[in-house]
Amino acid sequence: METQKKPCLKCLLREMDERAYLEKLHRYIELLDGDVKTAEALYEERLAVCKTCDYLEAGTCLACGCYVELRAAVKKNKCPYKKWQ
Ligand code: SF4
Repeated sequence: METQKKPCLKCLLREMDERAYLEKLHRYIELLDGDVKTAEALYEERLAVCKTCDYLEAGTCLACGCYVELRAAVKKNKCPYKKWQ
């Protein structure tokens, strides 16, 4: 039986297993409350804009420092340069 490694709550990003961290991030997005979460079509539209943006680097927006997938997943969030609809 495979044992599941408990996530370290006091780790810096550089100390974490990158893959496990990204899985956790996507799981967090999946579990966002419906009142908070961006509708799927709008989420994909937002990410399509980020994909063409010069501020996107390795999943991070260099304008605000957020992971764009996380930022785009929250309905009330905005692009710092108002590039999202
Ligand atoms: S959030 Fe806005 S500024 Fe940041 S990468 Fe996306 S489109 Fe570009």
